[in-house]
Amino acid sequence: MTYPIADLHCDLLSFLAAVPGADAFSKDQIPCAFPWLQEGEVKMQVMAIFTNVDQSSMKMAGMQAEIFYDLLRKEEKTVAMFDSDFLKNHTSDDRIGIIASVENAAGFGHEKATWPEIYKQFDRMLATVGQLAYISLTHHTENRFGGGNYTEGIGLKEDGKRLLDYMVGKKIPIDLSHTSDLLAEGILNHIDRHNLHIPIIASHSNFRALWDNKRNLTDEFAQEVIKRGGIIGVNFLREFLDQNVPERLFEHILHGNKMCEDAICFGADFFYTQNFPEESRQPLYFPLAENAGKYPSILESLSKTLSESHLKKLAFENVFNFYRNLWS
Ligand SMILES: [Zn+2]
Repeated sequence: MTYPIADLHCDLLSFLAAVPGADAFSKDQIPCAFPWLQEGEVKMQVMAIFTNVDQSSMKMAGMQAEIFYDLLRKEEKTVAMFDSDFLKNHTSDDRIGIIASVENAAGFGHEKATWPEIYKQFDRMLATVGQLAYISLTHHTENRFGGGNYTEGIGLKEDGKRLLDYMVGKKIPIDLSHTSDLLAEGILNHIDRHNLHIPIIASHSNFRALWDNKRNLTDEFAQEVIKRGGIIGVNFLREFLDQNVPERLFEHILHGNKMCEDAICFGADFFYTQNFPEESRQPLYFPLAENAGKYPSILESLSKTLSESHLKKLAFENVFNFYRNLWS
């Protein structure tokens, strides 16, 4: 089964920024190394600029934006910017289309940054990476913008509203994958109340109806994403699928496909696992989805259940259509 693959989330940039000796071409180092992406027929890969909430977040984010910029130039035989031109010409280009995203707005502003500093950092990063596939206000924890997945009861803060307002007109979606439920609600309400043109997606999340974890979407929030024309990328991490049943991956995909065949896509979430602190989460991935080379076999397994047109939508069409519409 060979379809091109589009994937909404990997952490190659933070790996390259933080790990000594990190090599984007080393299959032993990271499951989304370029050779794995090529083996899996990946045609489009979102690369997250990930930062923690701390004093160094703006510096770390700036560094990852620079790394992304350098990849486009130094590795131009392997990767190209994923943009409207790439969408038009991808069938005659054998490179991987890449685009950055921001996972944690702490990368735009640490807790003590002033707003002129935040706007400046935002503008500079956006200029460096060209365009952003999406912005996530938080990661797991709380920051000045709102509450992350594991911060129940903390929603959208005034600074979060201000950042959303700044995103208007820039054709950058807001990502619900790392929000608390209250933050997701706050974002949707703020957008509706002020009629803001900001698309909504969930870049790398599964379904809470199948596996109860705060990182997964309730069906209610999934429907909100779908209703607004967004896309939902299925996450391959064991922790968010089902700790014991590898095949649950297929059930999450089928659940999303049933909700809306035009919204479901991949958001595998491959990252550097060799310094991962929580022993209980090892192995991070099941063998059937342990690296980006596995997409063809995943599609093969799904071909028993999904029609060819649904497989194609899942593999890349939904993502391509979403960005084609957004940027047209
Ligand atoms: Zn994440």
